[in-house]
Amino acid sequence: RFAMANDNDGNDSRKRSTNSESDVESYQDFHRKGYDYISKALTMDEASQSMRDRQKAMDLYLQGIVELERGIIAIENVPPSVPEDRARRTDKLRDKMLTNLELARERVADLNLQIRTNKSTVPATTKSKFPFGSSTMPRTTSPAAAQQKKFNNAAKVAPVAPVSRRQISVNSRPAETNKPARSTSRGRLATRPSVSGRSEGKPEPSPRAPSTPSTPRTTRKNLGALKNVDSAMANLILDQIIDNSPGVYWDTIAGQQSAKQALQETVVWPALRPEVFTGLRAPAKGILLFGPPGNGKTLLAKAVATESKQTFFNISASTLTSKWVGEGEKLVRALFACARELQPSIIFIDEVDSILSARKDSEHDAIRRLKTEFLIQFDGVGTASDERILVMGATNLPQELDLAALRRFPKRIMISLPDEEARISMLRNLLKNHQHRLDQNDFEEVADLTEGYSGSDLAALAKDAAMGPIREIDPQLVPTLKHKEIRPITKADFQNSVNRIRPSVPQSSLADLDAWAQKFGDCT
Ligand code: ATP
Ligand code: MG
Repeated sequence: RFAMANDNDGNDSRKRSTNSESDVESYQDFHRKGYDYISKALTMDEASQSMRDRQKAMDLYLQGIVELERGIIAIENVPPSVPEDRARRTDKLRDKMLTNLELARERVADLNLQIRTNKSTVPATTKSKFPFGSSTMPRTTSPAAAQQKKFNNAAKVAPVAPVSRRQISVNSRPAETNKPARSTSRGRLATRPSVSGRSEGKPEPSPRAPSTPSTPRTTRKNLGALKNVDSAMANLILDQIIDNSPGVYWDTIAGQQSAKQALQETVVWPALRPEVFTGLRAPAKGILLFGPPGNGKTLLAKAVATESKQTFFNISASTLTSKWVGEGEKLVRALFACARELQPSIIFIDEVDSILSARKDSEHDAIRRLKTEFLIQFDGVGTASDERILVMGATNLPQELDLAALRRFPKRIMISLPDEEARISMLRNLLKNHQHRLDQNDFEEVADLTEGYSGSDLAALAKDAAMGPIREIDPQLVPTLKHKEIRPITKADFQNSVNRIRPSVPQSSLADLDAWAQKFGDCT
């Protein structure tokens, strides 16, 4: 089908009149470049033997997507006053580009899934819900309507019961659809399926959950039928973004007492006793954890998830912006819709600055749309009084956030460098499974030496110090070394390592963060 679109355009361009030639050439060029990238991607996609090939194919598709998007923008900039026949031709070309764009995005979504799950098969649910035949839509259908129709069809074809991720990954692969994606991609893309040819999307045995689901609240509603939500994406979220057992507890985290207290008040207790925390005590809808890198922001968010027993959606902003080029906006919509269905829930966005930074003119359109969608969805949180969704963000660059974003995080908690007590407790914790000879005084001395170290700097320091005893041993003896022959770790090892492992957070950035905290943060 790509080939057909390209040939037609070649003929069209030869017929065009001279005065419109340059415009035509520009979007025609984008289409041609996009087509070239996608053809190469298809070849690679079909032949792909390894994850690397798939990654390469995905990169080529993405380059094709960018060219097509540019082409579509160029066409949209053509003045409305052009002659009717030319307008018709540009419309036709635009439709073709949109179709190709959609197909390429679908392949990207498939490949993405394969790469992320490290499997060469596409789950049946994804195939049926990402139908390749956008050409089955009448040409006159607007892209938005086509997209909508597609989602609706997808929901009809294979309704998916909302189940835990384990259930989905076990149940969503009926044996007969377990074919490698590459054996079908070209065939599907190159032929033009008729409307009646939808039989391949005929209801398959729906990947339903067993009748005894893990949590009662996930059984009642049907995620496949979520309004305006791509059900394949909803499945992906259930499969990969929900993280209900991060295994981090309050005790795992040394120090940070005031942050723990604030999180307990605003997240954990309200989740456990919602009837107490109403009215003025109603919890905030957005919490921002900010502070220098490596001090436990991500750890704290995970501890909140474990301790509050809510559905925890853990997604990093870079996943939204890079892995999902062009899909981020859809993913954001699906994310919030799932959070609504599975509430009480926490949506945790790590590195939130990269999606809520001030919007710039130079950035890619897809990113701008993603940011806008995120703000819209975030605004929607809490509009229903019984809605229990919390958005938690973490950043070490809070200064980058725009004011509109900041308004949505009324509670802003600084996660600072560990103080002396926290450093001692962290060091104790790090050494607890190793033989060492450090007493309380030694720990205090090491803590003194490590003023200005972050939590992750301390972890690196302890790792280096633990190598001290090994470095003293003749390298030739290392292979046959017995455990009891290794001497215990001492204060001197730490003193040596302090010269090698230096603190990673510069004073200037600490000063900036402190200034920001004074101005905007919760400084309790
Ligand atoms: P970034 O801003 O770079 O994302 P972060 O603040 O999210 O950093 P974490 O990922 O939570 O930092 O912590 C990094 C590592 O440092 C942890 O895996 C852990 O080993 C160690 N660490 C940091 N802070 C603490 C702490 N308070 N208690 C125990 N370990 C810690
Ligand atoms: Mg982090």
